[in-house]
Amino acid sequence: MMANGQLSRADALACSDCRHACHVMLYSDTKSQLFGRTPIKHIILMQMRFDGLLGFPGGFVNQEQESLEEGLFRELQEELGVAVSLSEEDHVDARHAPGTSPSSPRLITHFYVKKLKEEQIREVEQASASTAKDHGQEVLGLVRVPLYTTKGGGGLSSFLSHAFIGNARTQLINSLLRFNLLSPEDLNKALKHSLKTHANGAVDLKAALALTEAKKDQS
Ligand code: AMP
Ligand code: MN
Repeated sequence: MMANGQLSRADALACSDCRHACHVMLYSDTKSQLFGRTPIKHIILMQMRFDGLLGFPGGFVNQEQESLEEGLFRELQEELGVAVSLSEEDHVDARHAPGTSPSSPRLITHFYVKKLKEEQIREVEQASASTAKDHGQEVLGLVRVPLYTTKGGGGLSSFLSHAFIGNARTQLINSLLRFNLLSPEDLNKALKHSLKTHANGAVDLKAALALTEAKKDQS
C-alpha cells in the first residue's frame, strides 16, 4: 500500500474478493466568460446523484466479465448517453472506500481523469439530458463545477460546501491541484470560505426545520 491509503492499480486488481467501482472526471479548457467578464477557465463535469449527493459519473464494474475500463465505459454510456473511451493511462487513483461493513465485500474505488475538447463536453451535456438511460433515475443532472470566486465570495467555495458521495470532494480537489486547474492559494481561500458557508447552512437548516415543526403541530 502507498501513502495515505492509496493502492497501486496492480495491488487493487490483486484483491480478488474486493468489489471495484470506477468514476471519472471529464473536463476541458474554455475561453468562455461568466457575465462576459469572469473567465470560466475549465469545464469540469460532476453530477447530482439519485441520493442527493454530488459525485462523478461511473459505477460498479463486473470484474468477472469486463476490465475496469470496459466497466467504466458501460457506466458512462448509461449515465451520460455517449461513448467515452478511457484507457489505463487515464487511471489516476485507487483506494479502499472507508466505512464498508465487515460483512460486505470490501470496495475499491478507482478514479480516472480525462481531458476532452469543449465541443465534446457540450455533446456529453446534451446527451446526458436526452438519450442517457439513467437520466432522471440514477442521475438527476450533470453539473459544472464553478472554479471562480464571485464578489460575495461564492462560486467554488459554495460548491465545495455541498454534500458529496464517498471521497468525491477530495478527488475533485486532488485533481484540481494535480492538473494545475487552480492554484493551491485560490483553493485554500475557497475552502476556508466553504467552512463558513457550511456553518451558515446549518443555521438556515435549523430555521427550515422550525418552519416544519410549526406546521406539523398545526395539522
Ligand atoms: P455508483 O454506482 O456510481 O453509486 O458507485 C458505486 C459505489 O461507489 C457506491 O457504493 C458509491 O458509494 C461509491 N462511490 C460513488 N462515487 C464515488 C466517488 N466519487 N468516490 C468514492 N466512492 C464513490
Ligand atoms: Mn454511478
